[in-house]
Amino acid sequence: MINKAPKHPFRLWLQGLSLPDLLDVRGHSPDFSGSRAGYINTRIQPLALVLALLIPAWIPVDALFMPQGEFMVMAGLRVVAGTALLVLFFGCARNQLTLSQARFRLAVLMTAPLLLYAAARLVLNGDVAPGLILGYSFFPVLTVVMLTVFPLTLREAASFTLPVVLLYAALEVALGRSTDLQSMGGLWLLVLVTLVAIWSVMGQLLMLLRLYRQATRDPLTGLFNRRALTEQIELERARSRRHGRPLTVLLFDLDRFKRINDTHGHLLGDRVLQTFARVVEDNLRETDHFGRWGGEEFLAALPETGTEGAQTVAERVRQACEQATLPLANGQRLGFTTSIGVATLQPEESLDSLFNRVDEALYNAKAYGRNRVVEAEAPTRE
Ligand code: GH3
Ligand code: MG
Ligand code: MG
Repeated sequence: MINKAPKHPFRLWLQGLSLPDLLDVRGHSPDFSGSRAGYINTRIQPLALVLALLIPAWIPVDALFMPQGEFMVMAGLRVVAGTALLVLFFGCARNQLTLSQARFRLAVLMTAPLLLYAAARLVLNGDVAPGLILGYSFFPVLTVVMLTVFPLTLREAASFTLPVVLLYAALEVALGRSTDLQSMGGLWLLVLVTLVAIWSVMGQLLMLLRLYRQATRDPLTGLFNRRALTEQIELERARSRRHGRPLTVLLFDLDRFKRINDTHGHLLGDRVLQTFARVVEDNLRETDHFGRWGGEEFLAALPETGTEGAQTVAERVRQACEQATLPLANGQRLGFTTSIGVATLQPEESLDSLFNRVDEALYNAKAYGRNRVVEAEAPTRE
């Protein structure tokens, strides 16, 4: 969860958005992927409902024009597809899902009309009645067009659209229509729409990446901002309660930071904040959450970590800050220190209470002389 931006070539948050982030998910942070999964899910839901209602709605038209045998098959398939989509619609109400679950749902959404199309193409091949296939022929294009509302990487877009184009082509070949002008025109249209769809989904992804970065990151340090961090800690609190695992937070406040600003200027103060952020990150695990709490205060949440372990981490960070220095214009080097409060979530404790306790611990660290780690008091029972 930690943003190790400078080390990873595909990380985007500090270096601006880069092309690899549009190609596949390797550079996406887990929290962004989780958010995108939720976003994809909320868009699958209305589409699933619309299709679930519209696909069976064509049954009366088929009933009027289709011979009994073919009608029974196609009506049955329409009912099955409609039901599957209805199940998908209700399944989407459960929102907390992973990216692979979201992709699976998207695959189901696309497969329903495609299977119907393939069946219709095979069943109605003998031109039972000219024009009957009309109610089905637009399904491949429809599935590709549906994709355009999702933010997807190039790799995802290709893996969703390629099977549609291949299915279309394979059916035309299987039915001996590969040289048919209408078939070729259909394929040409499908490829064209596919290219536009791929461009659209990547555009959506780019916009989402940009907005997400602006909404969740602190521009100076590239760290999560308070809102994003609070959301992550809320999830960790729920996880900690569910599994009975400890969760400890560290609150950092740079010592005498006003003096650094006043003596060396705000620009250098900003560079101290950036250096501090990197120093802390280097001492945390990938699964820890770390962000800017406000001003020169930073907060880290350490899942699966009790007070003792967290104190060791805090002490390591405190010492690393003592060692870190920044070059000054006059050739000298500027050092900085931090005070740290440590508080472990108690059973049934609210996040507000946890944050209050860690704040008090930090206050005490300042009062005891700064550049030290202080453990929070146990919560007072009401
Ligand atoms: P203490 O050891 O008690 O924490 O002393 P302090 O001077 O660090 O405490 P105080 O809260 O009085 O000062 C914090 C300063 O941090 C004041 C504010 O101007 C500065 N600050 C907050 N955000 C930024 C920022 O983004 N950049 C810079 N350069 N300074 C900032
Ligand atoms: Mg402060
Ligand atoms: Mg301070």
